[in-house]
Amino acid sequence: MTARIIDGKALAHSLRTQYRERVAQLKTQGVAPGLAVILVGDNPASKVYVGNKVKACEECGVASFHHSLPAEAGEADVLALIARLNADPTVHGILVQLPLPPHIDVRRVLEAIAVDKDVDGFHLYNVGGLVVGNTIFPPCTPYGVQLLLETTGIDVAGKNAVIVGASNIVGKPMALMLLQKEATVTICHAKTRDLAQHTILADILIAAAGKPGLIVPQMVKQGAIVIDVGINRLPDNRIVGDVDFDGVKEKASWITPVPGGVGPMTVTMLIENTLKSAELRLGTGQGIGHQGWDSVTLP
Ligand code: NAD
Repeated sequence: MTARIIDGKALAHSLRTQYRERVAQLKTQGVAPGLAVILVGDNPASKVYVGNKVKACEECGVASFHHSLPAEAGEADVLALIARLNADPTVHGILVQLPLPPHIDVRRVLEAIAVDKDVDGFHLYNVGGLVVGNTIFPPCTPYGVQLLLETTGIDVAGKNAVIVGASNIVGKPMALMLLQKEATVTICHAKTRDLAQHTILADILIAAAGKPGLIVPQMVKQGAIVIDVGINRLPDNRIVGDVDFDGVKEKASWITPVPGGVGPMTVTMLIENTLKSAELRLGTGQGIGHQGWDSVTLP
């Protein structure tokens, strides 16, 4: 079997086209959706990510407000900026690019963002919403994976979903979303013994460890859906995921490539959440693509 490709780039493109229409709708009602992005310091990877987010905003007609603070900026400076953005009616989403310099308390900064502008979904209120299956802003990367899974047309209810990686931004929220959708979920991490013993049972395997080549064909069940969240730069500058794509695609039924899989969806979901915030402010509308997902009640 050679797996079918789940094309994140194409889905992201199609969603962004729809977003332009939603932005036009909002503007006719007097609301110009806006996203504020805060970057502290000059981490080169963070600069690239922020650049991509600003570009995606432009592509969809969303206003972006880019705030760059020097690496020496104090926590009080970041909190003061967030307070200003919380009060600014032209801002519908606030994103703090992580990681922050070590002298700044990440939790305190994330908790300072108004929950109705928390488009990254990292505020404890939104994390709690995710736990009980009633979140306003699902975190962007697992949200993107959710939509990619939906494109396969396969119902995840009752399936064995194995997630390799247990971070707060990818693995844990992904697990909660799949549990909400009634999958049987296993979360593996760096201390998991005999990883393959878990992954081989996966109908849906999600790799989010940040380790190139971690998932090899022997670890994958025939016909599994394999989603590769990993983004790893090799010494020769190539970008690869966590999955041995060429080997695993011969066993999987569906697989995401890297690049062109989860990556473009993450930024797209940020725009989705920003539009949802603007629509909620107007008292209209719902986001697209996930109706029903949040309304499942587990037995
Ligand atoms: P992280 O470092 O915060 O977490 C990694 C997780 O993987 C941890 O829970 C760790 O225990 C686990 N892990 C590490 N080595 C392992 C191993 N050998 N076996 C099993 N588990 C192992 O990373 P993160 O922020 O969650 O990101 C994970 C990967 O996803 C990175 O490559 C990152 O670049 C990528 N990422 C991609 C996107 C995207 O848009 N595609 C978004 C966020 C992160």
